Amino acid sequence: MSFKPHGKHLVAGAWVSGETTFSSEPAEGPSHTFSVGTPALVDQACQMAEQAFLSFGYSTRADRAAFLNAIADEIEKRGDAITEIGCQETGLPQARLEGERGRTTGQLRMFASHIMAADYLDRRHDAALPDRQPLPRPDIKMVQRPIGPVAVFGASNFPLAFSTAGGDTAAALAAGCPVVVKGHSAHPGTGEIVAEAIHAAIVSCGVHPGVFSLIQGGKRDVGTALVQHPLINAVGFTGSLAGGRALFDLCAQRENPIPFFGELGSVNPMFLLPAALRDRGGEMAAGWAGSLTMGAGQFCTNPGIAVVMDGPDADAFTDAALKALEPMGAQTMLTDGIAAAYRAGRDRVAGSAGVQEILTSVCDMRNATPYLYATTGKDWLANEALGEEVFGPLGLIVRVKDADEMRQVAASLQGQLTCTLHLDAEDSELGQSLMPILERKAGRILANGFPTGVEVCDTMVHGGPYPASTNFGHTSVGTLSIRRFLRPVSYQNIPDDLLPGDLRP
Ligand code: NAP
Repeated sequence: MSFKPHGKHLVAGAWVSGETTFSSEPAEGPSHTFSVGTPALVDQACQMAEQAFLSFGYSTRADRAAFLNAIADEIEKRGDAITEIGCQETGLPQARLEGERGRTTGQLRMFASHIMAADYLDRRHDAALPDRQPLPRPDIKMVQRPIGPVAVFGASNFPLAFSTAGGDTAAALAAGCPVVVKGHSAHPGTGEIVAEAIHAAIVSCGVHPGVFSLIQGGKRDVGTALVQHPLINAVGFTGSLAGGRALFDLCAQRENPIPFFGELGSVNPMFLLPAALRDRGGEMAAGWAGSLTMGAGQFCTNPGIAVVMDGPDADAFTDAALKALEPMGAQTMLTDGIAAAYRAGRDRVAGSAGVQEILTSVCDMRNATPYLYATTGKDWLANEALGEEVFGPLGLIVRVKDADEMRQVAASLQGQLTCTLHLDAEDSELGQSLMPILERKAGRILANGFPTGVEVCDTMVHGGPYPASTNFGHTSVGTLSIRRFLRPVSYQNIPDDLLPGDLRP
């Protein structure tokens, strides 16, 4: 049976509505009415989150693991309904939403196992040395503790895996932090049904209801009130550079500044080294076209830039990319605003000095068709704006004159989530000279592959220097992401019965 949203916020176990409403703008299917969030609701949710922390922050890892697994089970119970409304609201295809649901439940279960393994606690002990000269050493123990209530902004491009019960929420709950989610107005119904699943898990596990609230958007003051709320200790965010930067600045301006873990923008450049380009340029061009257009290019790891050495192999690569992209039709984007931003980005690139159009297409309304441009290393280096993200299926080929210019292009990059090398054995020397440059630019460097399709695992770093993220020491994907919501505390000479459970003998 189809899910029909009631349009309310979930505030600490109660479904509440506000005075004003907004209508969802689905890509297909019926529009629904949702309550607009308010700063007063944000305050209620944060107060309740703080109350919940008194028990949830001291819950056992086994209890939290059971809770995370229960959320995954409840999401699965609602699987078909989640896919249906998710597809309607976002325009993403059914297979994508089903896959994303699997990733979402997988992340929740992964964190359940991760906290049970307990390595993340990084427990340390310096035993007392009472006879040490000239001074005795006290007994000191250390463990990672949850930081308290955190705010999460649902991402438009991952309505499940980076939204209501997505990676940020799963990591925070695993750590022992209550979560207040600001729902993304591009998929409020999807947010509501996932919140319903979390609520059901709260009830079945007997967890304090303040551990999770969902405040729908509709107005910007919800987000600003949330990041400025004195009881919020950190923020998880995925979205635009402008929005993320504004919220980051608000976090920094607070009386007690808090970390803002924002993932803002990346062009994910690929460097195609000469031997690889010569021997398999056509294959790489086809692979690039697939990665660039996947999900209408609405991935933070979308590889927007291909850097190649000028010459006949670059011509062949460009032709092959054009042939692969040309037949690809229009795809629906997540929102009208994102489609408009895509076209504005296209116009910015197309109008830049020294940029040549390779593939022009026509798209309007909420649709995106691929675009392909080319420029020289010299023109790239003269125009920093060419390195800014265009969110959508737009590719830019940068033709450099030699290895030195390729390294200069690498050195000119802003912070990236990923950088890719396509290389063969013959390219090793150039690859080696690029590595120290790329390592300082990106959170993940990959060889002979495409950056879309982020593995959720122990070794994943999905982050990088600004503007890829606002906090380059962290990742928003994988088990390491729990560290964002933990804080090390030392316990000096504290009696065992006063220690947190994880430190008791
Ligand atoms: P967005 O406009 O940055 O919005 C993300 C969230 O932040 C929304 O909940 C939004 O609230 C809120 N927000 C944004 N600016 C705010 C402000 N000044 N004050 C308070 N709250 C604010 O991102 P989007 O809607 O998802 O997509 C727009 C653009 O973001 C895309 O075109 C793309 O360029 C970029 N994007 C990048 C990635 C990535 O992974 N790098 C992912 C998604 C989007 P409202 O909903 O109320 O506006």
